[in-house]
Amino acid sequence: MTHFPKTELNSVHRLPQRGQYDKETIYRIVDEAKICHVGFAVDGQPFVIPTIHARDGDMLYLHGAKASRLLKHIAEGHPVCVTITLLDGLVLARSVFHSSMNYRSVVLFGCGTVVEEDAAKLHALEVLTNQLVAGRWEDARKPTPKELNATTVVALSLESASAKIRVGPPSDDEEDYALPIWAGVLPLRQQALELAPDPRLNAGIPAPEYLSDLVSGD
Ligand SMILES: Cc1cc2nc3c(=O)[nH]c(=O)nc-3n(C[C@H](O)[C@H](O)[C@H](O)COP(=O)(O)OP(=O)(O)OC[C@H]3O[C@@H](n4cnc5c(N)ncnc54)[C@H](O)[C@@H]3O)c2cc1C
Repeated sequence: MTHFPKTELNSVHRLPQRGQYDKETIYRIVDEAKICHVGFAVDGQPFVIPTIHARDGDMLYLHGAKASRLLKHIAEGHPVCVTITLLDGLVLARSVFHSSMNYRSVVLFGCGTVVEEDAAKLHALEVLTNQLVAGRWEDARKPTPKELNATTVVALSLESASAKIRVGPPSDDEEDYALPIWAGVLPLRQQALELAPDPRLNAGIPAPEYLSDLVSGD
């Protein structure tokens, strides 16, 4: 399946021309983002919790402490809604009404299960660690049995999804183009800055190449 089926749940109603349903577009946004926000309702009270995610095929891994309410909620089989937003620019229209943002966002729906088996859990943690920075799993100390036991990992099966994407200049009302007001886009991007070595880092340990490459933008 290359596209998520369009249903009442995931069809973009507002500005539908910005909606996309193909997995390639949706997964590119999911993989570029470092965090997601997971929405769930408990007894009618909504919560939206930011957390780390990592995709593995048509699954999304989340992890955390055993006591996490979010993870317990997923473990009980309840559905969740995950949103991911990449902000690409501020759209400064001539009018307040048309002021906006350029973005690539995704809304995902699914239910999850707890990853119980140790090998599968270690695999999920590898995917999550490499999502933080590709190559990190190889370097970092692996979880002890006690740490593994203290961590809950859930795998969300991505059943329905949509992307919504805005690009380009402002869309002002025709009569406003004559106004003497600057209009355009302030592009924005997330950028790696200089590394800040741990003050307790032992002498003689160089930064790994996968980090220095990120800083230099390679
Ligand atoms: C950075 C950013 C800033 C925004 N600012 C505003 C704002 O100030 N005001 C405003 O009204 N809207 C804003 N939006 C758009 C907003 O996310 C909604 O798309 C819009 O408000 C319509 O909401 P709705 O519930 O009527 O959506 P509907 O179109 O009714 O939603 C139906 C389905 O479409 C999909 N969908 C809706 N929105 C998105 C999305 N953003 N990404 C992926 N799938 C989506 C979901 O599957 C949803 O279940 C912004 C979006 C982003 C990413």
